[in-house]
Amino acid sequence: MLSELFAIFGNPVSHSKSPLMHNFAFYLLGYNGCYGRYLLEDGQRLRKTFLSLGLSGANITVPHKEAAFEACDWCDEFANKVKAVNTIVLRDGKLHGYNTDGPGFLKAIDSSTKTILLLGAGGTAMSTSILLREAGYRVAILNRTPERLVPFIQNGFECYDYETLPPNASFNLIANMTSAGLQDDNLPAPISILQPLINNAKSCIDVIYGKDTPFLKLAKQANKPTQDGSAMLLNQGVLAFDYFTDHKFTLDQIEQAMKKAFLL
Ligand code: NDP
Repeated sequence: MLSELFAIFGNPVSHSKSPLMHNFAFYLLGYNGCYGRYLLEDGQRLRKTFLSLGLSGANITVPHKEAAFEACDWCDEFANKVKAVNTIVLRDGKLHGYNTDGPGFLKAIDSSTKTILLLGAGGTAMSTSILLREAGYRVAILNRTPERLVPFIQNGFECYDYETLPPNASFNLIANMTSAGLQDDNLPAPISILQPLINNAKSCIDVIYGKDTPFLKLAKQANKPTQDGSAMLLNQGVLAFDYFTDHKFTLDQIEQAMKKAFLL
């Protein structure tokens, strides 16, 4: 019997742990699937590439989540709300889109957190901000490019750029949701802005995983508890796998199998 094929699309994509996580889960749960990676430079080619590769499903990472939303024939309510897709499943020749990033982040953070500042205004910030607000958190967004804040302002979020952030701004949790630090040594905002924010915060999280980013290093220097994006990665992967395999396994079974990928 032929394997069902899955892949992650992104640019960059070589860093992604998703192939290891999903392949571990396919193997340990006895599901006939195989998961690879695809460096996609032009998001407009996502749909054509997905179909020509004969995939049954895919994950989408930076910077193609908005393009993935456009590429789908149908999206669930949450993906329609956030207009960003990180999981696609092929059903009856149609691309069905979901977003598991928001739920993955929500599960990863300490529920005693009340106020959160998201650094970045891309697809990840959009999906998490809406879910966090629905869960009762006060959420604000800080982004380098003011124009990118427009959809967040339209959604009623508290938004700042480097010029408008008040000097005494204070949040329990500062979350790096930019791609600064992913492939470079950049901080997600000027140090003069980050340092007081970190000092006023209880803890810091970077959604980038598997490395000590400049943002996490700065937070550690300020003696703040820190967390990378591994827990979010695992949580979003479990939910994506559940869609890929049409709810054949419990979330706990998937999580236990996928966790093994983090031992390597
Ligand atoms: P997008 O491309 O949609 O958005 C990128 C954001 O990063 C923009 O707000 C951009 O700001 C900002 N940015 C990029 N470089 C810099 C810089 N040097 N200084 C300041 N801001 C910068 O990305 P995504 O939202 O899809 O992903 C963001 C990050 O989240 C990636 O690193 C990705 O790997 C990670 N991620 C991790 C997950 C996990 O499971 N752990 C899940 C999902 C994402 P501007 O508008 O000014 O360009």
